[in-house]
Amino acid sequence: MLDKIVIANRGEIALRILRACSELGIKTVAVHSTADSELKHVLLADESVCIGPPPSIDSYLNIPALISAAEITDAVAIHPGYGFLSENADFAERVEQSGFVFIGPKAETIRIMGDKVAAIKAMKKAGVPCVPGSDGPLTDDANLNLKVARGIGYPIIIKASGGGGGRGMRVVHSESNLLNAISLTKSEAAAAFANDVVYMEKYLETPRHVEIQVLSDSHGNAIHLGERDCSMQRRHQKVVEEAPAPGITEKVRKRIGKVCSDACRDIGYRGAGTFEFLYENGEFYFIEMNTRVQVEHPVTEMVTGVDIIREQLLIASGEKLSYKQEDIKINGHAIECRINAEDPDNFMPCPGTITEFHAPGGPGIRMDTHIYDNYRVPPYYDSMIGKLIAHGNDRESAINRMRTALLEIYIEGIKTNIPLQQRILDDAAFQAGGANIHYLEKKLGL
Ligand code: ADP
Repeated sequence: MLDKIVIANRGEIALRILRACSELGIKTVAVHSTADSELKHVLLADESVCIGPPPSIDSYLNIPALISAAEITDAVAIHPGYGFLSENADFAERVEQSGFVFIGPKAETIRIMGDKVAAIKAMKKAGVPCVPGSDGPLTDDANLNLKVARGIGYPIIIKASGGGGGRGMRVVHSESNLLNAISLTKSEAAAAFANDVVYMEKYLETPRHVEIQVLSDSHGNAIHLGERDCSMQRRHQKVVEEAPAPGITEKVRKRIGKVCSDACRDIGYRGAGTFEFLYENGEFYFIEMNTRVQVEHPVTEMVTGVDIIREQLLIASGEKLSYKQEDIKINGHAIECRINAEDPDNFMPCPGTITEFHAPGGPGIRMDTHIYDNYRVPPYYDSMIGKLIAHGNDRESAINRMRTALLEIYIEGIKTNIPLQQRILDDAAFQAGGANIHYLEKKLGL
């Protein structure tokens, strides 16, 4: 078992990792910027190291500082959490070259999955269903591009191979705009991602976002933990997530889950990961793989009883998975609302001091957050300050518990998106289940 690890992150996920370590008897080193010395996990960790000034580029993204922190504390591994360096193949490589365990997949796997054209190629080879598309990068041959697009059928989406965070994509509705859109996306991609490779896909007009959680160890064992529906999005950012996805039957779950766990074995995947799909008319279309733990992992934990971070730590220790596929049962329904320090009307971040915080409680309620009375939300980082999760025997009971918890939670001193979450939970289409990825923006009039 790993003896001591560096938690290379901040906020709720750093605290979540610390809790899992504590249960397993793993010692923890918190690293933090000068703006974060009062973070809850920094106060609770066995050791802490200040790694730089507030801007992420000087602290949480500072690779030499993170590796030095592991060296001076005699840690043996680094957990990257999500965001920051979690999907940076160079970081994973430097960590391992420096003699530490990177708690995640091999650097080469991260590198492939970070390049969308390479990821799609690997997935197709492994038998994962993908969106009909150009099967590789577009060339400068205009006639060929027009022909490929005609073969796929409009509307089409041009995507940057190196894109991420919902950027580097352009939808084309008719042939007259195609060539112009390709060259625009190419030059934008070159500027934003230092990689001008673009490719083409069929643009799905009313899909849902359905993703499969997987766990894979270094002994050739891979399982899936069912799916999550993350269709409630604003600007490609998830706002509410749930498990299981409304309308997905046990038979369908088994089929797509097996495709994903087989693919993990095929590519030699290690650790926790997520296969993201667009789901339309009963078909799954792979869009990308996230090679890290996700913000929304708690809904899967609530319905399966599996502690995903614990499994990450065990896999990184070289252990076999604690579960076989037949051990995994979906029990009830769970919903997660992301709680952000932001203005619910215009979505502007609202950092500041939380003068009073009362956590909600009761059966089936879980709140993953690092905030406390008089905690000051710094202006430098993501505005998410916590996640509220409600579990019930069925979807209706999870919704009712979430609505009660949203009334009970009390955060004073800063603005939060709790009123927005209440509107979503009260919405008839959300309550009916199965809304597509455009629904929330339409409802908000965006
Ligand atoms: P990123 O890495 O930037 O998040 P993704 O490939 O995951 O990029 O796509 C982000 C979002 O863009 C998807 O959740 C979906 O809303 C939209 N999108 C991407 N590809 C398609 C497609 N082929 N058809 C329709 N929407 C798409």
